[in-house]
Amino acid sequence: MRIEKDYEIKKHTTFQVGGKAKIVCFPQNEEELVKSLKEYPKALILGNGSDIIFSSEGYDGEVIITTEINDFKINGTSVYASCGVKAPILSRAVSEKGLSGMEFMFCIPGTAGGLVYMNASAHNQSIADIFTSCKIFDTETQEIKNLKKEDMNFSYRKTILSDKKYVVLSAEFELKQSNQEEVKALMERNAEFRKQRQPSLALPNAGSIFKNPENDSAGRLLEKAGVKSQIIGGAKVWENHANFIVNIGYATSNDILKLMYKMYNEVKSKYTIELKPEVKFFGIANEEEKEIWQIMTKN
Ligand SMILES: Cc1cc2nc3c(=O)[nH]c(=O)nc-3n(C[C@H](O)[C@H](O)[C@H](O)COP(=O)(O)OP(=O)(O)OC[C@H]3O[C@@H](n4cnc5c(N)ncnc54)[C@H](O)[C@@H]3O)c2cc1C
Repeated sequence: MRIEKDYEIKKHTTFQVGGKAKIVCFPQNEEELVKSLKEYPKALILGNGSDIIFSSEGYDGEVIITTEINDFKINGTSVYASCGVKAPILSRAVSEKGLSGMEFMFCIPGTAGGLVYMNASAHNQSIADIFTSCKIFDTETQEIKNLKKEDMNFSYRKTILSDKKYVVLSAEFELKQSNQEEVKALMERNAEFRKQRQPSLALPNAGSIFKNPENDSAGRLLEKAGVKSQIIGGAKVWENHANFIVNIGYATSNDILKLMYKMYNEVKSKYTIELKPEVKFFGIANEEEKEIWQIMTKN
């Protein structure tokens, strides 16, 4: 297994932010992943780093990155995916077979494990709709277990995996037979829709910053609160959609957290609504960052 020391995490995050991690493991297959989890049960697990802010101060511990475990199989309408396979690759591969259900994954730059972990969704489709089972490693009991759909407690951007400290090794999905033209047309419509409403990764970002509150949209509230185009250091609220922060160059995790806190406070004072972060924050935090994060997540 490839193991790196004092490794720059920045290049493994779509925000392009993050300092050095003490030890980073790149398992090449499930066996190596389990071995590394047994050795480092408290390690941070990263897929494609597309939903995280990694501290610019780095991390004084172990990180396991799954993106090199990326095999998948399509058998009729059933799909098996290792945790590290990237969602757009899987989405493209099933579309070639005319299978419907993964069109929404085409523009989500995460891994199968990351998408299952947080029940990713878009365009009226979600992981919960197609998920049948997954194989996980329980870092507390050190056991491999199989979870079925009813075990997962799927809800908006949440599953049982975060509460239980489970790591997804692989997942299985059941899709519907359709035809190539229809599936590809839907993927293209989704991509076109996003062009207007989401920054491409040419402007490094981590997708939506805050979750939508019940029956409302974080983007709408943030826009009305007037946060568009606000800048702190190298972090800027995207001018076309207020629920995205883009790294306009040399942003630090501190810039991003302070800007998030400003956005949070503007909405709170105008609407008495406390937005909850969708992104996760990993790594060494100074006192100010800890305080900001605790207030926003109420941890
Ligand atoms: C441009 C852009 C567009 C996006 N659009 C959407 C969207 O439409 N819908 C949506 O839901 N999200 C969207 N996202 C957010 C993000 O891509 C998803 O949340 C994705 O599921 C994260 O996957 P990842 O592999 O990058 O996870 P990471 O960012 O690496 O990690 C995120 C969390 O998942 C955990 N995790 C990762 N892999 C595993 C595993 N194998 N087992 C257990 N836990 C794991 C990590 O520990 C962490 O807590 C978007 C992001 C970007 C940058």
